[in-house]
Amino acid sequence: MTAAYLPELARVVGPGTVITDPEQLDVHAHDLWPVSAKEYLQGRHPHRPDAVVRVTDESQIPPMLVWAAERKVPVTPRGLGSGVTGAAVPVHGGIVLDLSALAGIVDLDETDLTVTVRAGTRGDTLEDALAERGYTLGHSPQSLPLSSPGGWVATRAIGQFSSRYGGIEDLVVSLTVVLPTGETVRLPRVPRAAVGPDLKHLFLGAEGTLGIVTEVTLRIFPLPEHRTVQALRFPDVASGIEAMRHITRAGLRPFLVRLYDEDESRIAMNDGSFDGCALFLGSEGVRAVAEAEQVTALDCCTRFGGERLGPEPAQRWLDHRYDVSALESLLRHPGGLVETIEVAHFWSRIHRVYADLKDALTPLAGVLGHFSHVYSHGTSLYLILVGEAADDAAVQRRLTEIWTAAMEICLEHDAAISHHHGVGIARLPYLRRALGEGATTVLHRVKAALDPAGVLNPGKLGTDRPHSEVQH
Ligand SMILES: Cc1cc2nc3c(=O)[nH]c(=O)nc-3n(C[C@H](O)[C@H](O)[C@H](O)COP(=O)(O)OP(=O)(O)OC[C@H]3O[C@@H](n4cnc5c(N)ncnc54)[C@H](O)[C@@H]3O)c2cc1C
Repeated sequence: MTAAYLPELARVVGPGTVITDPEQLDVHAHDLWPVSAKEYLQGRHPHRPDAVVRVTDESQIPPMLVWAAERKVPVTPRGLGSGVTGAAVPVHGGIVLDLSALAGIVDLDETDLTVTVRAGTRGDTLEDALAERGYTLGHSPQSLPLSSPGGWVATRAIGQFSSRYGGIEDLVVSLTVVLPTGETVRLPRVPRAAVGPDLKHLFLGAEGTLGIVTEVTLRIFPLPEHRTVQALRFPDVASGIEAMRHITRAGLRPFLVRLYDEDESRIAMNDGSFDGCALFLGSEGVRAVAEAEQVTALDCCTRFGGERLGPEPAQRWLDHRYDVSALESLLRHPGGLVETIEVAHFWSRIHRVYADLKDALTPLAGVLGHFSHVYSHGTSLYLILVGEAADDAAVQRRLTEIWTAAMEICLEHDAAISHHHGVGIARLPYLRRALGEGATTVLHRVKAALDPAGVLNPGKLGTDRPHSEVQH
């Protein structure tokens, strides 16, 4: 974007909205993908935007997008920047549209159990406001204090209690979206409809390439009257997976189902000599139902070799689940390596994927694994990679090796290459193979129809126009 555009842009969005302070530009050149975070820590900003536009009102967005489309200036939406794949990194520069000041609850409907919220609201602020009135979102990602409803929608996020409440796709009732061509679309706000395709799904997982989400209506739930948790020990990963499969097969909906492999179990149990695999299990809701569900789920665990260890380890996890300080300090340490890779597969194939990933990645880093989102037909697998290299440049090279090995194994097994973090930059090289030619064509055609100038988050989801056509 040429400097001559800045005064024009300021006129379009209004005074005090365009930020060109170099430190802010540096911050907005990154998200929390470890590769990007390492670049930030090294003072390298290969994708620095030319300006940050921090809007405070939805009405500022349409004229800005029309202006950007006319001048072919890239616009990358950003919620709170907690993404871990590089999706909010402005790879072609231009404008970062910072939505963090578009915050606050618009409407709480206690009869219909919905909340309408501006897209940039901090997750924990929203959850705390709901709790004061006796409700919860049910959506409880580990990044709740770091992320926003707009980001949840754009990444197809999921909370840690998804086995009871579902992923964000189960919780979104309606959206307001500004299209790249500047029109504001308020999707119907109904409990369910068979009136054509459900268009909200077009924007769920679109990673900011198809529109700017400005308002989200979400389902909410009364705070549970009762909660009960239990930790168990299984002899190995395979028996724990079988117990989880039978819990979902029985139609149970515990809010917490979390199985750790042997290596992560020692950390989860806070016991370096713990032998076996820990499973944390929890039920909540109406007391009688939650207690009955827990009894039935525990019976299921016993059948597959699960031994009860008491509630304390699972309660400790609940109390500390937002604390990522150990991983953060390893990341900040020069040469410290941290990465997370989450994938998914059917029950029949997930153990093979786990075993192959563990074998292939162990020479490259320490590999901790857990299974924490369950469905009647399959489960997620979440790997935490930790290690050390000579310096941060060596870490980046190692991370490339890790991503390549992990994604190739997932593709070989026909597994989902991401369960909930999304594609961003991290998985872009594998997107076409993961989707297949047909779905890739649909994605490109939808992008071309909604964003003919190709300015919204270009370089993401494989819907990019040639680099040379985008104004820098
Ligand atoms: C410690 C930690 C724990 C995490 N735990 C979880 C977890 O439990 N579950 C989970 O799903 N994820 C988790 N994440 C990942 C991350 O928090 C999610 O991807 C989250 O949804 C991103 O929200 P955000 O507001 O920070 O979005 P950003 O990172 O700012 O943006 C992410 C993507 O969404 C787009 N976007 C953002 N806002 C909008 C908008 N209003 N309109 C259109 N596009 C938009 C951006 O362009 C980008 O493509 C975790 C991350 C960290 C660092």
